[in-house]
Order: sequence, then structure tokens, then C-alpha cells
Amino acid sequence: MGSTHRVTLIPGDGVGPELTEATRRVLEAAAATAGSSFDWDRQEAGVDNMETAGTPLPPAVLDSIRDTKIAIKGPITTPIGTGFRSVNVALRAELDLYACLRPCKTYPGVRSRFDHVDVVIVRENTEDLYAGIEYEHDTDAANKVIEFCNTLQAKQIRPHSGISIKPMSEFGSARVIRYAFQYAQGNGRRRVHCITKSNIMKHTDGLFLAVFREVAKDFPDIEPRENLVDATCMGLVQRPEEWDVLVLPNLYGDILSDLTAGMVGGLGVAPGANFGTEVAVFEATHGSAPKYKGQNKVNPTAMILSGMLMLRHLGEAEAGDRLEQAVAAVLGEGARVTYDMKPNRNDPSAVGTSQYADAIIEKLGA
Ligand code: NAD
Repeated sequence: MGSTHRVTLIPGDGVGPELTEATRRVLEAAAATAGSSFDWDRQEAGVDNMETAGTPLPPAVLDSIRDTKIAIKGPITTPIGTGFRSVNVALRAELDLYACLRPCKTYPGVRSRFDHVDVVIVRENTEDLYAGIEYEHDTDAANKVIEFCNTLQAKQIRPHSGISIKPMSEFGSARVIRYAFQYAQGNGRRRVHCITKSNIMKHTDGLFLAVFREVAKDFPDIEPRENLVDATCMGLVQRPEEWDVLVLPNLYGDILSDLTAGMVGGLGVAPGANFGTEVAVFEATHGSAPKYKGQNKVNPTAMILSGMLMLRHLGEAEAGDRLEQAVAAVLGEGARVTYDMKPNRNDPSAVGTSQYADAIIEKLGA
């Protein structure tokens, strides 16, 4: 007997609505293979919404996510010069989405320089140099910070320096590291690698590593590994098959998730999710690609694979596995795929967003 899952569905803007429609149809077909279904709470957000609602992020969107605890969203354009901040950043802050999950896996049929990549990046999302605590050079605030810091240590900060603060807490580190171990445990992974520059930044990255060692004790069946971020970049491209789940502070996580997305074929195939204590928001890594809006052209794989992560999160592991197999089969055959998956991007046999979704639904036997 299957379940009905209530989920907030946010089509977004740009290419978001067409990707979301393809993803919705595929997810319904995948869930149906397990006798399950979705009860979507559709919520509008994004630049198209600004004229009607006066804001790209109406409160109803947040209310819905807080209620359903789970959302899947299309990309949303960051309005420039309007005074509105990024909806994506606002969602992360309002819902305290502290863990960003980015699995990167090679699928046959997707062109990439690397084989056998199957790594999962877990990035801390709220602290570190991305906390947004910065002082512009030559301002009163920057001068005060410099003056104060210079009283604390022998090493002196040069005058006219700009300052960015890197706060990393025990609390913020522990919750994302625990999430990484729980993800590893729940998804049949064997190792969690803690990636830092703890040999240089002893009191921030060093704290992250110390917390990692403590949290690891609660997960004796998962092997903890410790790696420096620079060596990790080299190791990933030299021996991609040796890496498993990587947990990283915010900045390194941002950089390495793009590196690993590039290793598996780029933005079109890179899924993602953001987790808070109570809520989870699933979305592709890429943006709203406005130049392709309304053309039924772009690749929905990243959003569909984000939906696969959502199925697994909802306890629909079998439906998630079937969906992954169906996507892999269509990509592997290489016939009914979008233009960006063809060896020649002008190949006239490329299909549209919606037809690619049809091919996956056929593979699901729905
Ligand atoms: P983008 O990801 O939209 O596009 C980068 C390049 O990748 C473009 O050439 C685009 O055409 C291509 N591309 C992206 N997705 C694709 C897909 N599914 N299939 C095929 N090709 C694809 O990045 P951008 O141009 O820097 O950003 C556009 C807007 O999206 C900006 O306003 C940005 O702030 C926003 N954005 C939103 C999110 C999000 O909603 N989470 C993430 C990143 C960027």
C-alpha cells in the first residue's frame, strides 16, 4: 500500500516552470510504480511574481514549506537593481537550511572527462566566510576592527585592508557533520571525509575537524577520513573512485561542489537539496537560464534527479531507484535526450524538455 506525499511545488521563473512540469510528471510516474502519489501545494515565487504579489517571495511560500516540511523548486532569477535580495538566499536564511547536499555521479551517455565518479558533497550553508560579515577598506568600521585586532596579537594587519570574518561555531559544525554521517548511514555509503585547511586555520577549520572527530564516534560503521582541501582537489581528479561523502565548511563546499559537478558532466545533470532541522528543499544546482525560457529546450535531468533525492528522503527508496535507472537508461541510449547531451549541440535529433520526460516515463513502464 503506497502513501500520498504532500509537497510544496515551486515552479520558479525562467526555465523553471517547464523543468518543474517535466519533473512533476516524472515523479508522479515513479511514485505510482510503488503505489504512491503526491498532493502538490503549488506556490508561485520569482520575478514573474513581483508584479502580481509585489515580492518574489510571498509569505505563503514559506508558510507552505513550514507546513508540508518538504519542497521541490525550479530555479529563480535574482532580480538585479530592484532592492530584492536573492530568493534562494532568503529561503536558506528563513528556513535555516544549514546543510546543502550535492551528489555527483557519472552516468553512461553523459560526456565527461571522468569515469566512476560517485561522490556526495555536504556543504555547511550558514557560516564561514559566507556569513556576510565584511568591512570595506578605509571605512570607520574596518579601521576599528583593524585597530582592535592589532591589540590582540603581534602579527599586525596592514592599514587600508578590507576585512572578511570567518566565524565557524561548534553548533554549526556539529549539525552539518551529523547530517553527513546520517546521510552516509541512510544511503549505504562507507566513508565520510572531513575536508578542511585545519593545519593553517586552526581555530575555525581546526574546530570543524575536532567536532568531526567527536561526531564520528557516534557512527562506528562509517569510516571517518580527514583530508586537506588542496590535496582533495588533486585527489578528486586523480582518483575520483576513492572518494565517498565529503563534508565541508561553506566556502570549500561551494568550490568543490562545482568541481565535482564539472567532473560528472556539468550543470544540466547536477542535482541538489538543502536541509534544515525540520524542512528540506530540493532543487537543481543550475540557475533559471532566462535565454531559454519557454522554448521546451533545456535539460531537466538535474531537477529530475533532485526529485529522485526527494523520493528517497520521503522513504520511497524503491521508486527513487527505479527513477534513477530510468534516467540512466534514457541517457545511456542517448537518442531521446536534450541538445546538451548530444555530442554535437546542434544535432537535430535532440528532443525537448517535455519529450525527454516522456522517454523517462516510458522506461518507468508507467
Ligand atoms: P544558469 O545556471 O542559469 O546558466 C548558466 C549556463 O548554463 C547558461 O549557458 C545556461 O543556458 C546553461 N544551463 C543552465 N541550466 C541548464 C539546463 N538545465 N540545461 C541546459 N543548459 C543549462 O546561471 P546564470 O546564468 O548565472 O544565472 C541565471 C539566473 O539564475 C540568475 O538570476 C541567478 O541568480 C539565478 N540562479 C538561481 C539559482 C537557484 O534558483 N537555485 C541557482 C543559480 C543561479
